[in-house]
Amino acid sequence: MMQAKAHPTGKMFAILYNRLDLFCPQFYSFKRKSMKIGVFTCWCGENIARNVDCEKAAEAIGKLPGVYCSLSYKYMCSEPGQTLIAEKIRELGIDAVVVASCSPHMHLKTFRKAAELAGVNPYFVEMANIREHCSWVHSDKEIATAKAVELIRMAVEKVKQNRPLVPIEVPVTKRALVIGGGVAGIQASLDIANAGHEVILVEREPSVGGRMAGLSETFPTLDCSQCILTPRMVEVGQHPNIKLYSYSEVEAVEGYVGNFKVSIRKKARYVDIKKCTGCGACWNACPKKKIPNIFDFNLGNRTAIYVPFPQAVPAKPVIDAVNCTKLTTGKCGICGKKCAAGAIKYDDKDEIVVEEVGAVIAATGYELYKIDKEQTNPDISGYGEYGYGKYKDVIDSLQFERLVSASGPTNGVPQRPSDGKIPQSVVFIQCVGSRDNAKGVSFCSKICCMYTAKHTMLYKHKVHDGTAHVFYMDIRSGGKKYDEFVRRAIEQDGAEYYRGRVSKITEENGKLIVRGVDTLAGKIVTIEADMVVLASAMMPSQGAEPLAQKLGVGYDEYGFMSESHPKLRPVETNSAGVFVCGACQGPKDIPEAVAQASAAAGKVMIMLSQPKLTREPEIAKVNERNCAGCFACVVTCPYGAIERAEIKDRNGNIIKSTARVNPGLCMGCGTCVAVCPPKSVDIEGFTEQQIYAQVESLLEIG
Ligand code: FAD
Ligand code: SF4
Ligand code: SF4
Ligand code: SF4
Repeated sequence: MMQAKAHPTGKMFAILYNRLDLFCPQFYSFKRKSMKIGVFTCWCGENIARNVDCEKAAEAIGKLPGVYCSLSYKYMCSEPGQTLIAEKIRELGIDAVVVASCSPHMHLKTFRKAAELAGVNPYFVEMANIREHCSWVHSDKEIATAKAVELIRMAVEKVKQNRPLVPIEVPVTKRALVIGGGVAGIQASLDIANAGHEVILVEREPSVGGRMAGLSETFPTLDCSQCILTPRMVEVGQHPNIKLYSYSEVEAVEGYVGNFKVSIRKKARYVDIKKCTGCGACWNACPKKKIPNIFDFNLGNRTAIYVPFPQAVPAKPVIDAVNCTKLTTGKCGICGKKCAAGAIKYDDKDEIVVEEVGAVIAATGYELYKIDKEQTNPDISGYGEYGYGKYKDVIDSLQFERLVSASGPTNGVPQRPSDGKIPQSVVFIQCVGSRDNAKGVSFCSKICCMYTAKHTMLYKHKVHDGTAHVFYMDIRSGGKKYDEFVRRAIEQDGAEYYRGRVSKITEENGKLIVRGVDTLAGKIVTIEADMVVLASAMMPSQGAEPLAQKLGVGYDEYGFMSESHPKLRPVETNSAGVFVCGACQGPKDIPEAVAQASAAAGKVMIMLSQPKLTREPEIAKVNERNCAGCFACVVTCPYGAIERAEIKDRNGNIIKSTARVNPGLCMGCGTCVAVCPPKSVDIEGFTEQQIYAQVESLLEIG
């Protein structure tokens, strides 16, 4: 550690000295001239020290004008490290701090808190990232150390220009919006509602339940999916704190953390669900009975007026406008005549309702890789060689779930879609689309190994003398009792596993000829199968990207919504007040989706339990005197955070028009700064003076 210079002032005086500048600009400008800066360089164990000579850097920085102490320590973020900073602030009357360590994303809050507790305005803390920018990217210690010194020096020059700031307080509307009523959305809604807060739950299908409502039995316990889900669906439908908008979608989102205004499109259902008693007279009478049932992935049929499945919540029908004779030709109208409750409304229209909420959870789930969307054209699936869409008995995994589900189109008896025969031999192909950079997606869908093992078991439980064959790349069954489950499928239920890919499927004499390879045995394998089940990759639900854009949430190249930190902030997003859970964030099984949903609900409850929310003050500020009133910033701001305002004289006459920032909406992105011709906008904490000071210090060194 380098020796620090002594300071004559006492502890109380240091605290007063550090706080006074908040209220007195004259004192602040006096103080800036005599600013005492403390620089604390972290080794990050070996992470930084391996490639940066921290002692040497601290010594060089200690010689800079204004730097009153310059120390290095092994772990600056640790309790002793933070105590060291606080001690030096108090002992030496330090009034600005630079920490040279890791990314500000990681620890800026930590160091600001430490400085604040010692009496320094937290916005007089800057960080120089000498880990990611030096030690991790340079192997030459001398070069890395020289660069570290430059980065720290830039931070020192910046902090000299800092101004004292105070966090912004915003009110909070104590209601939450949950988008998506699958198991994740249901769990999040119930948790928040049970904590006493109102929840608006928006589900785009006529019923809540999501994919889980269509599953048969669930790994690793093989309990019936609907038996465990239905009570929760009913609870959601009846909960006094949950307002359910089924068959509805989020149209627009305005506002900011704590104060969102959400427009919801209630799609025309053609049935007044308040009047409807769910008696079924309408759908039993509807003559249009051969409409492919989407809930059964087109393996069964339904009527034009329908309830998607018997346990639906709400258990009220909806008219499929595309297939209803009355709505397409004006004829029929039988359901209207049969409905004793007078609930049928053929003139129903979409309706937009607006709800105000303080926080939002996105739980929009998943769908299967392309082949789920394009049922008819096998070529666009990218896996034409498997014959999906061409051969009726090549189906996907969710279709198989419906075939073995007691509530499915065959009452749980696996039957071939082509002729209704019970298949004696079924081939399951894993990783269709997953882990395939050439044709599919690069990621592992995580759950297919498990549900394929489940499928083989369910099949064998129903067709005792049948054979289940599985082609796999690796078995990935991490999880409590998961590996045991897969082994049970092989050892107890006798599924035949082949490590290898299938190259081609053809149809001959009513049989599917599956040609593949068993790489462990080093053999070509040819199987005559009655049915083939493709375990396709899990993708985000259709419409996830536009929704993420409405919410201001980032998403990856596949459309999965991004969390703000994969380890430390797994349910938060880069949009304050918006959280994610379930399969819309990445492939997940039910336990994981539920756990993440409760985590997101917990975050929302923390927010809603506070009387007011605080936001970082590093946002745009317009110099209204210089503003030319061109309003380039108003049209450019991606968050709609700048408004037109008028400055009036004492008599109420308008002197000039100016741009003005709404502090609740501004995200501090800086776009307005770049487009303002007279340079009248600045970001607090990133002002022009601060940036120039950094650049100049760099040029001086160069
Ligand atoms: P989803 O179930 O997909 O629910 C999302 C909901 O959001 C849906 O209701 C959807 O309609 C709605 N939605 C989508 N977009 C919008 C929008 N824009 N606005 C409003 N609403 C929207 N897991 C297990 O643990 N055990 C198993 O045995 C098991 N078997 C499986 C078998 C198969 C073949 C597959 C493919 C998966 C299986 N899973 C299993 C995984 C399980 O299905 C998921 O973990 C679970 O469904 C994820 O729940 P979710 O709520 O995140 O998403
Ligand atoms: Fe509802 Fe009327 Fe249909 Fe009965 S007949 S389910 S009350 S719409
Ligand atoms: Fe079916 Fe439409 Fe006729 Fe009603 S009006 S019975 S939904 S076809
Ligand atoms: Fe809008 Fe400027 Fe704030 Fe960015 S920094 S959100 S452009 S006002």
